[in-house]
Amino acid sequence: MSTAILNEKNMNREELESLEVAEDSREQDWLAPSFVGDIFMGKLRMKEVLPYPEPSDEERKIGDAYIAKMERFLRENLDADQVDETGEIPTHVMKGLADLGAFGMKIPKEYGGLGLSQVNYNRTLALVSGHCASTVAMLSAHQSIGVPQPLMLFGTEEQKKKYLPRLAKGAVSAFALTEPEVGSDPARMSTTATPTADGNHFIINGTKLWCTNGAIADILVVMAQTPPIMKNGREKKQITAFIVEKGMPGFEILHRCRFLGLNGVQNALMKFTDVKVPKENVIWGVGKGLRLALITLNAGRLSLPAGCIGGARQSLRVVREWGNERVQWGSPVGQHEVGAQKIASIAANLFAMEAITWLAGAWVDGKKHDIRLEAAIAKVFCSEKTQRIAEDTLQLRGGRGYERASSLRARGEKPFPVERFLRDGRINLIVEGTSEILRLFIAREALDKHLKIGGPVMNTRLSVGKRIGAAIQAAGFYATWYPAQWLGSLLGYLPMYGELGPLAKHIRYAKRASHKVARAIFHAMILNGPKLEKRQLTLSRLVEIASDIFAMAATCGRAKARMGKPGEFGNVTDIADLFCQEARVRIEANFHALHHNTDSAERRVAKQILSDQGRWLETEMVVMPDNRLPMLGTVPSSVAPAVSSMPAASGSSNGKVASAAV
Ligand SMILES: Cc1cc2nc3c(=O)[nH]c(=O)nc-3n(C[C@H](O)[C@H](O)[C@H](O)COP(=O)(O)OP(=O)(O)OC[C@H]3O[C@@H](n4cnc5c(N)ncnc54)[C@H](O)[C@@H]3O)c2cc1C
Repeated sequence: MSTAILNEKNMNREELESLEVAEDSREQDWLAPSFVGDIFMGKLRMKEVLPYPEPSDEERKIGDAYIAKMERFLRENLDADQVDETGEIPTHVMKGLADLGAFGMKIPKEYGGLGLSQVNYNRTLALVSGHCASTVAMLSAHQSIGVPQPLMLFGTEEQKKKYLPRLAKGAVSAFALTEPEVGSDPARMSTTATPTADGNHFIINGTKLWCTNGAIADILVVMAQTPPIMKNGREKKQITAFIVEKGMPGFEILHRCRFLGLNGVQNALMKFTDVKVPKENVIWGVGKGLRLALITLNAGRLSLPAGCIGGARQSLRVVREWGNERVQWGSPVGQHEVGAQKIASIAANLFAMEAITWLAGAWVDGKKHDIRLEAAIAKVFCSEKTQRIAEDTLQLRGGRGYERASSLRARGEKPFPVERFLRDGRINLIVEGTSEILRLFIAREALDKHLKIGGPVMNTRLSVGKRIGAAIQAAGFYATWYPAQWLGSLLGYLPMYGELGPLAKHIRYAKRASHKVARAIFHAMILNGPKLEKRQLTLSRLVEIASDIFAMAATCGRAKARMGKPGEFGNVTDIADLFCQEARVRIEANFHALHHNTDSAERRVAKQILSDQGRWLETEMVVMPDNRLPMLGTVPSSVAPAVSSMPAASGSSNGKVASAAV
């Protein structure tokens, strides 16, 4: 049983199972250094971002050339507003993208792909998403989480030879994990894959929900439960990844799902009824499905921040033009202070988003870093910042921000599709691990070193002798590590990083903050013990602090690489400085909130609402019949009779430090 399962006796069976599945599927070892992992331990290794890793001239040329081709193709062939209105990506566009090799951007050339680097792939996705988010969702679901990525990482040579050339040519793929009862908690999976008596096939039965490209996919990765195994006298759930082809009997598309945005995405509810799959279609191995998904998502997850960058760039163009053009109260709206704040913050956050995403992409290409934390942070940071940017852009546009592009065009105005950006980007805080789940995932990984040192001390299943031994070892480690975190903060005031000029003060601050967040994590472990995993808000604040430190380091590193090039990046220092100032305000606020917060009052009121004590607030509402849910508890007399059919409160989630970040 993993060292992280310390609070077992306070868990119900389902919670324990979810955590066991999560722990079994996470990457146990750190095979390469983790920049953010070190921040959590009080080390800010600026030499990793100074100099900032840039693609070689050859790689840059390859990227520039492909992006120029893609830009021209999109401008001449793809009407994104039409895709939004019709809900279809036209066939000639799908064919054109295939001819451009866009379905095989990351597939190696030997299998018929373009073999683009992660950075060039991300640059291309940023371009496509700034124009049409539905098209980028289709392309990235196909090759960031769809069949190509797990096959390149874990496929057999036979599987690669059989499928990668087809995929590179334009066969569409999809990734099917989610089910009606399985979102953030894969342990609840009910889709099964039962081996046949001769062992040569598996029979898949189940339902998969919200599968992007599911309605048009030729080849899918399908996660299913295979028979459990016995380990340490306990049954262990097994999740396995299978290659399933569209034509296999028993595979059905039940419904095309429609959403707030991404109207062009062919997302489906799918059913598998006795779908017979040869054992050769198992990827990596039986029982390795979830770990496969997690590792696949490490790099695959970077396509989402790249997509966000595209939308943020378009938003900056809109606020620059509109901020200058639109005059109200005697000045352009971009010169009024509140308008200026939006414009400046959009520019600063866009630069930081690029800094962390390109950095993590370069580390993927360099193959010398463990980027599980950086990729998860980039996804949360960029998706949340982009929603904020879309909101601010819409607000600065006023009523025009709320108007659809087609309506603006019809009455002869510039058809900036701002409301579409907002609608299309909202999903990025949910797919590939919700923001909440990813923060818990990052917190779990951040604690890993401490859990390995201190976990055995608190592990009630170990013998007393072993626990005492572990305690002595832990004391030895913390006797030097802990004072070093205090000394480190003091030394952080010494003059250093002079080469960063006006940004040096921010990195000295980030260095001090790294020591402080490392101490804060240690204090939180001591104060909360095994119950720490329940203190999700505390963990999220600690993750936020480390995320901002990472973003400051990446931003200053990227700015340094552009300083001294006044022709191109004249105000890069001011933009980076602004981002760092905003990040420091957030970091200080999060440190303060660790001890000054409303967490317990929120827990109390949430408990009351979930147990119907706040029904008196739900009054004078029209409740439509199909909104009626099975009743829970009694109706307070004060809100009868219209309320007798009021919806019941939903159940609460189980709040685990989950690796459900899929
Ligand atoms: C447009 C779209 C495309 C998608 N594409 C795909 C795809 O291609 N393949 C695929 O497999 N899936 C896909 N999904 C599913 C997506 O990955 C899930 O929606 C996501 O994992 C969240 O699951 P859920 O919606 O069931 O929310 P739930 O897991 O039910 O979560 C509901 C809320 O509870 C929170 N929560 C859950 N557990 C905890 C916890 N332990 N602690 C604290 N908070 C918690 C969540 O953060 C969330 O806010 C897609 C979904 C959409 C809408």
